Amino acid sequence: MIQLYIPLNFLGVIYREIKQALTDLDKMFNLLEREREVADAPGAAELKVATGTVRFEGVDFAYDPARPILHGVSFEIPAGCTVAVVGASGAGKSTLARLLYRFYDVTGGRITVDGQDIRAVTQQSLRRAIGIVPQDTVLFNDTVEFNIAYGRPGATREEVEAAARSAHIHDFIAATPKGYETMVGERGLKLSGGEKQRVAIARTLLKNPPILIFDEATSALDSANERAIQAELKSAAQGKTALVIAHRLSTVVDAHEIVVLDHGRVVERGAHAELLARDGRYAEMWRLQQAARDDAGEPAGA
Ligand code: ADP
Ligand code: MG
Repeated sequence: MIQLYIPLNFLGVIYREIKQALTDLDKMFNLLEREREVADAPGAAELKVATGTVRFEGVDFAYDPARPILHGVSFEIPAGCTVAVVGASGAGKSTLARLLYRFYDVTGGRITVDGQDIRAVTQQSLRRAIGIVPQDTVLFNDTVEFNIAYGRPGATREEVEAAARSAHIHDFIAATPKGYETMVGERGLKLSGGEKQRVAIARTLLKNPPILIFDEATSALDSANERAIQAELKSAAQGKTALVIAHRLSTVVDAHEIVVLDHGRVVERGAHAELLARDGRYAEMWRLQQAARDDAGEPAGA
């Protein structure tokens, strides 16, 4: 009996160790999942961000060679400016964001940051310079604090809290029994889409990089929260180079330039007033959204 007991107890220890190892592996795969698509070029240099000008130059892309997604997409985000990309669902907007963060490599053309082809620099240096709030945030199976501080390893609790406050998620976190130590994800507290989005926003605000990508960053929020956080995002983007993908056009009226994407092609571009005067695709989208807003009885300018 005793002989059987010892090995079982030992198995218990091993079981716990394996479980921990699997959790860590999980974390790693989460990180690696999207990174195995690209590799650093041999002898890749560090990205040197001078002013933070981003250029898409004749970018073609296909996830699957049989189905091209982007066709010769060119536009520039001058240093310190916000450029918005709008267009129907499936147009290729999120793909542009993923390419700039280099989850994938372009199949034609190139993307540069201050003149450096992003394929020629290390992924680490590129990603250090860019903060992304993706359309669908996947969080680590770890604490809320880890998930926010991931934006800037070594950040203090005060800095994490300040970012959480700006992202309007602090009160929610503080109301949980374990606060910032709360585990989130599959094995922890399940967050709603809007809560996850706010954690991702806090992470990016904390990271405070020179280049920002907001991919429908507030799409899962109710309109009161959305307005409040849009104001935070706007101030975070002040003086930075920002690629903003918007579902609500009222959030991009101030953009330096608005790029209208349709089936992977740029079909219109210009400032809000220019595009309205042009009375094309953008003007049509604008009218439709205004009408929907009026129907919903939302206040003007929402
Ligand atoms: P948008 O953000 O404008 O809605 P996306 O960039 O997400 O559009 O998608 C553009 C096209 O690429 C869509 O047809 C979509 O189905 C396809 N697509 C997106 N992600 C993938 C993927 N990982 N693998 C294959 N096709 C994809
Ligand atoms: Mg998208």
